[in-house]
Amino acid sequence: MGYVDAHTHAVFKETITEEILNFALNEWHTPRELLLMSVREFVKVLDDAEIDYIGVMAYPSRKLGIAKEDYALRVISAVKDYADRFAVIGGVEANELSIEETRYWLERQYEAGISAIKIHPPHMWLKPNAYRPEEGGLKQLELVYQFAEDHGLPVYIHTGTSAFSRARNKYGDPIFVDDVAVDFPRLVILMSHLGRPNWVSTAFQLVRIRRNIYAELSSIPPRRLLEYIPRLSEISDKAIYGSDYPGPGVYDIKANLMEFLKIPISREDLVKIASENPRKILKPLSRNR
Ligand SMILES: [Zn+2]
Repeated sequence: MGYVDAHTHAVFKETITEEILNFALNEWHTPRELLLMSVREFVKVLDDAEIDYIGVMAYPSRKLGIAKEDYALRVISAVKDYADRFAVIGGVEANELSIEETRYWLERQYEAGISAIKIHPPHMWLKPNAYRPEEGGLKQLELVYQFAEDHGLPVYIHTGTSAFSRARNKYGDPIFVDDVAVDFPRLVILMSHLGRPNWVSTAFQLVRIRRNIYAELSSIPPRRLLEYIPRLSEISDKAIYGSDYPGPGVYDIKANLMEFLKIPISREDLVKIASENPRKILKPLSRNR
């Protein structure tokens, strides 16, 4: 059994757009050849890294000018011949769509086979708990969580800062995720990046006290993981490996995993985090077959 990388932004020759290419070159500084690999070529990279499957982010962000709700459908159709190697993570911009549009896109993405939903507060300019009456009562966002809960889709919520020029970092505080965990008790929440760099203690505490919040470790450099999270072993049943490839600084998906597997915690915990835990939560596209 190989590994699972639950958080990537892999793009392929078949799915890349002008907007995404420019964004990745200018904001991620990703080498161009990594952005133009075919799905088939990319599967070979996964084979070589002993990665069974990856989660591919395909959520919209009008504020960053990179994608809309149809992008998830395009990614699914590009990778469907390798349905056991990819999980596509879709999403909607709840503060840009009407309730009807929100429902329409959730249903279309679900029927197409998304495995999870992503909410990116600093990129969407949206508080994770904006559905609460005291936070503005955004019904569309409530619908997103309700839909995910009813359909057994986990929800990734980005926490921590984002360095992109149009990101709004006030939305990155993990404390707003607490409401979501309380109001949607059957929802599985992956707290991406565990609030790094400056909100890790809040995020860690929420993982400990909220049964349905999991720690998703992507974009923290593995060699610094224990600096950020010294008590990682305490949450090894609820921690999930991700790389954030090919985001800033993560240009080698295999090297990142190898570095993770070297961190000084027990082999048992490493295998839980990079294989067993993600498999329980994130199902590849082939789950639909
Ligand atoms: Zn990411």
